[in-house]
Amino acid sequence: MLQSSDLEKILMTSQDTVLAPGPVNLHPEVRKILAEPMIHHRTPEFDKILKDTLKGLQFIFQTQEPVFMHTSTGSGGMESLLINPLSKGDEIIIINSGKFGERWVEMAKVYGAIIHEIKVPWGEAVTVSQVEQLIKKYPIKMVLTQACETSTAVLHPIKELGEFISQYPDILFLVDGITACGAVELPMDLWKIDGLVAGSQKALMLPTGLSFVSFSKKAWKKIENSDIPKFYFDIKKERKANEKGETWFSSAVPHIKALQFIIHHIQTIGYSQHLNKIKMRSELFLKWLPLLGFKVYAQSPSPSVSAFTVPDGVDSQKLRNHLEEKYRVTIMGGQDQAKGKIIRIGHMGYITKEDLLRTFAGLAYSLKELQKLKLNEIELLKIINDFEKEILPEMEF
Ligand SMILES: *Cc1c(COP(=O)(O)O)cnc(C)c1O
Repeated sequence: MLQSSDLEKILMTSQDTVLAPGPVNLHPEVRKILAEPMIHHRTPEFDKILKDTLKGLQFIFQTQEPVFMHTSTGSGGMESLLINPLSKGDEIIIINSGKFGERWVEMAKVYGAIIHEIKVPWGEAVTVSQVEQLIKKYPIKMVLTQACETSTAVLHPIKELGEFISQYPDILFLVDGITACGAVELPMDLWKIDGLVAGSQKALMLPTGLSFVSFSKKAWKKIENSDIPKFYFDIKKERKANEKGETWFSSAVPHIKALQFIIHHIQTIGYSQHLNKIKMRSELFLKWLPLLGFKVYAQSPSPSVSAFTVPDGVDSQKLRNHLEEKYRVTIMGGQDQAKGKIIRIGHMGYITKEDLLRTFAGLAYSLKELQKLKLNEIELLKIINDFEKEILPEMEF
């Protein structure tokens, strides 16, 4: 049984921890790899690493198709996914259920696509029938969505959407899996996804700076005929370079070495165990935070990130700032219409038992210190103790 004094020790550490939906805590081995001396990217040593890592990405994406890397943030990967198969005047559907759906809209506008937007209320998931209605009305060429909309923590029904869209030989299903691919079940080939993007600083547990994309054979046909101007993100050039065992431009050597480690790490644990670890962490918070007065915000919560409406009278921005300043735990607040109203906790990355406990207990004590907790000290200690008992070794790292 934890006493107040034990808790104080855990809470008052000077170490920062990041349980945001990206960036995330780095594995100690990744930190070591990033500090190693530089090697050149045109060397036999690096060639081997690149080859192995590109193959490993196919395992992460669960695809037989090649996966490509861009030295860019996730948004660069989104752009690559969009513009490689797009042609001028294409009519496309965008599922806009939050900040990242909005980004698809802004991006597609720049490239002159004719956009049919499905505006999903924040916190809700899209339905197949919403997509079906638009497909029946317009000559649609692609459907764009997030798998997990990070701003609301909603997980969309990707399997069902993929199944439905795959009936149409001329429509591509393009998925932003930046907080899903590597953290949530999202088998590209099996679920008939035509284009998938992942990012380094979220589900792949690395620093910001790499994005990954892959396309189905159906998408490659459109890529061959695309008339949208592109240079840096030209995937045909990248493919040619990869076939020669190189990246088109200089490789981000330290990141790629660290990625190789992460993929091997996930393979060692087993993919389904890795995904389950993340799911168990999310279930822990979904179960226990309501006991402190939080409400689950997303209608279909993603295992990779959880969003909660804060208790009445609490400003979520103040709460997260307090947690960060006093307890050195970084979580996120809400954006736009959810600003001040929700908190978001990420379950990806290197997370220890102590991180989980410090986040939960830190939130409880922060509420108390903001005079928004309806529990007395004894009740509070009991809840924290009960929470601690449910942290299993399989949830760590
Ligand atoms: C973080 C994120 C992105 C891209 O963000 P960058 O800051 O460009 O790396 C895109 N989509 C989703 C769903 C995200 O969570």
